[in-house]
Amino acid sequence: MQETVSVSEVSETSEGEVTARFADYPFRGSLLKDIQAAGYETPLPIQAACIPHALEGKDLIGLAQTGTGKTAAFALPIIERVAATAEMGALVLTPTRELAQQVSGMFAELGRSSGIRVATVVGGIPIEKDWKALVSWPNVLVATPGRLIDHIQSGNVSLKDIKVLVIDEADRMHDMGFLPQIERILRELPRERQTLMFTATMPQDVEQIVQRNMRSPLILSVGRRSAPAERAQQQLFDTHESDKTPLLLSLLRETQGRVLVFVRTKLGVDRLARAVSPRHRGVARLHSNRAQAERDEALAGFREGRYRILIATDVAARGLDIADIEHVINYDFPQSPDDYVHRIGRTARVDATGLATSFVTRAERRFLPALERLVGTPLPLTPSPVTGGHSPRVAEGGRPSRRRGQRRGSSRRSPARAASGR
Ligand code: AMP
Repeated sequence: MQETVSVSEVSETSEGEVTARFADYPFRGSLLKDIQAAGYETPLPIQAACIPHALEGKDLIGLAQTGTGKTAAFALPIIERVAATAEMGALVLTPTRELAQQVSGMFAELGRSSGIRVATVVGGIPIEKDWKALVSWPNVLVATPGRLIDHIQSGNVSLKDIKVLVIDEADRMHDMGFLPQIERILRELPRERQTLMFTATMPQDVEQIVQRNMRSPLILSVGRRSAPAERAQQQLFDTHESDKTPLLLSLLRETQGRVLVFVRTKLGVDRLARAVSPRHRGVARLHSNRAQAERDEALAGFREGRYRILIATDVAARGLDIADIEHVINYDFPQSPDDYVHRIGRTARVDATGLATSFVTRAERRFLPALERLVGTPLPLTPSPVTGGHSPRVAEGGRPSRRRGQRRGSSRRSPARAASGR
């Protein structure tokens, strides 16, 4: 890794105005037309930083969080490069099926007029569908590592024409244990290729992949490394395990818009959904034990507004681009600071603002110092506005029991804005 270019040098004037324009890039007319149709007026900073170098064929590492516009930062130069070619020239690896589908959607949208054919190969769907996609002469393949390896091993796919490889959310790949699979896939690819990596953090194992497989990559960072979504307002409530569900119900009553709730375990997601559903319409669940069709339905319903509340494990934490999530709630505190960054990155995307609330029990307080070091600011704990006896108040699948004399939802002030003063 040799050069480091700060995004402010690349894309912003001293007044902070972005100077680059899409029309300044050597993009074909059909691509400019689709960029306009997508409603993008100017390149976002990560795009202004990456696109010129990516078009020159350089290897890049984009240290960017989700929500910064990083997908288009790699999709646009790839479309320009592979449009009107017959072979499969680009491969994008993503950690989750949902992210793969989202990335494919962006290639389809921005590559429509340029004749881009994108195939998506992910686990959890019948393999026959992949065969159909793979024989449709795609010029971009978007895949999760496990399913792609299945196809490599059974000889269904050849990666010999790949000119551009994207490893998206490399830190997430690391957390999910996919790095050996990435190494395996890298062995199938031509050595002469361009590699673009996107990651919010740089764990040591990822750095090794970079050193072994990338050619003097340019490192482009947008904002502070691992900074949480800057516009999200963060509040942390000091709470007890048994008060979490009443506190959540109280927050949900106060939020009109979309809410994403993170729970540590799959079982916990199911259990919490059973407690919330009787009181709130439109509750969806997302975790990896659900069938792919159910996961797709939950996500599509949340995106389209059929569900207002999505309760999920970290499978939903990274990369998903859902507009206008008003409130992200860490029902269980994330155990790694990186997960915190990714979870709260679900709100305040691009030009929105949002609220991120975390419930912190006594046992979970031990995760705070590392997180404060990462974000570089103290994260003060506020007493929970909903307190009650600390005996368990929600039986599994049951309704919260109230203490005698306590009114339903013992919120004494607005919990949604209690810490923020809003
Ligand atoms: P991503 O970080 O790739 O998940 O992108 C987040 C969101 O930004 C997506 O909804 C994109 O459609 C949107 N987006 C990407 N580029 C631009 C742009 N230049 N102007 C406005 N929105 C954009």
